Amino acid sequence: VHPHPSALHAFQDAARRAPDRTALAYFDGRLSYAEADALSDGVAGHLVARGFRPGDRAAVMLQNTPHFALALLGVWKAGGIVVPVNPMYKSAEMTHILTDAEVTAVVCADHTWNAFLRTTAAAAPSVRIALTACERDLQTRDDARVLRGERLGPCEGADDLLAAARAYEGRPPGVAWPDAADTALISYTSGTSGTPKGAINTHGNIAYNAERQRTGLGLPDGATYFALAPLFHITGMVCELAACFTNAGTLALAYRFEPGVVLDAFLEHRPAYTVGPSTAYMALMAQPHVTRDHFASFSSLSSGGAPLPPALVEKFRADFGPYLHNGYGLTECTAPCASVPPGREAPVDPASGTLAVGVPGPDTVIRIIDDQGRDVPFGEQGEIAVRGPQVVPGYWRRPDATAEALPDGELRTGDIGFMDLGGWLYVVDRKKDMINASGFKVWPREVEDVLYGHPAVREAAVVGVPDAYRGESVKAYVSLRPGLHAEPAELAGYCKERLAAYKYPRQVEILPELPKTTSGKILRRELRGRG
Ligand code: ATP
Repeated sequence: VHPHPSALHAFQDAARRAPDRTALAYFDGRLSYAEADALSDGVAGHLVARGFRPGDRAAVMLQNTPHFALALLGVWKAGGIVVPVNPMYKSAEMTHILTDAEVTAVVCADHTWNAFLRTTAAAAPSVRIALTACERDLQTRDDARVLRGERLGPCEGADDLLAAARAYEGRPPGVAWPDAADTALISYTSGTSGTPKGAINTHGNIAYNAERQRTGLGLPDGATYFALAPLFHITGMVCELAACFTNAGTLALAYRFEPGVVLDAFLEHRPAYTVGPSTAYMALMAQPHVTRDHFASFSSLSSGGAPLPPALVEKFRADFGPYLHNGYGLTECTAPCASVPPGREAPVDPASGTLAVGVPGPDTVIRIIDDQGRDVPFGEQGEIAVRGPQVVPGYWRRPDATAEALPDGELRTGDIGFMDLGGWLYVVDRKKDMINASGFKVWPREVEDVLYGHPAVREAAVVGVPDAYRGESVKAYVSLRPGLHAEPAELAGYCKERLAAYKYPRQVEILPELPKTTSGKILRRELRGRG
């Protein structure tokens, strides 16, 4: 049960209770709750004056900046739906989303507008309103000027977000606030399985998971949250932004993930909480100047959205102190549906060496099922299916995809997992990433977890490659920790000692860094393409 129907109501409540508290901290720039409230009212006022109507879609295509939060709140205050878009996307990906969601407004950085969005938006007939934020040089310290609205370059055909917001005072009249059942976001999947489709996250989905984060973590009112995950991804949006506003906290932002900048920001803002993919922690741990002090302010640290190797949890604790809490979620679950409760430690399955992802939330039912949707015998592997208040009602204008992934409202995750007697959930791997080596099933995760136990390994990804004899054989790609060295044959031998003969990688290739999505997940599919 959550007290707010939406994260917007939660924000408003915080603005009323603590108007002078910092809502958004960005390098040396600060916006209080009262200021962020007034500016987002102005964004809403501008949109409504330009003909934006309740239910209209606005694409927000920004890095972790205060503008992101102002645009999001502004669109919601205008009764609209936000389509968060990765700012690294290029024209073709963007055109698909603008057209599919029939977006009427876009909010982006000035350089994005000038580089391609102006022509892309012109080609998408629904787009009528463009707002730009000056983002250039945002990684530098004196970027507080961005909060003063100083423009760095003209954007033809677009209005400046902050200037537009300041031109309006008060909330636009006559716009109803969202109900829990209303659509808050259309979150496009990255499209590894066909054309990207938009998951519909309702305001109630977001408010529920944000409130769960608040009560589950037990952080004090007003705590500082650091946005390690990108806000355009559901983890950042819900576990950082929405959870922070629900707790009347301060959201510290640092543009995009840059390990050295993030460590400096930890010392500057002394956050109590953050969550990011395991790869972000790997990158922070590899920084030459990282110390225990960088993590001393945290009362909780979480890893979510990507597999967490147990060896990483141990290395992190040994070197820096805190315990990394695992959490499992998907866009279709509006971020987490299972997590490790505070004060608890996730067990490691003795047979496979897999670290548990957590236990299901209180109102969440997780089943392990076979292809017909029947429960598999206890302890056996099957597809993870989720039912709960955070599960999306469906995909945007895709009844076919909705019927397939959400029969009777229960989400088929496409992940294979199992549960133990204590109720802990384990994620084995993605169904579609299974390697079939001479008829033997190999789950890449299990091999990767072993590789992470090697002291020289920084990142590991395992894929199946075509093999004339076995059908597929196991290949590992690895990047090494700075200053450490290992030969491919040594790494293959390390796995051979610890895994059944059909599982160890026949080939190991060392790369300077593994390819990742901007949300930090290692892209096995790109490595598969290398052969
Ligand atoms: P697309 O659906 O377009 O392929 P995606 O699957 O990366 O993109 P997300 O919703 O961001 O979309 O990611 C969810 C997936 O991430 C889960 O289905 C699961 O495979 C993986 N995942 C998330 N958390 C964990 C975790 N703690 N351990 C292992 N895997 C995880």
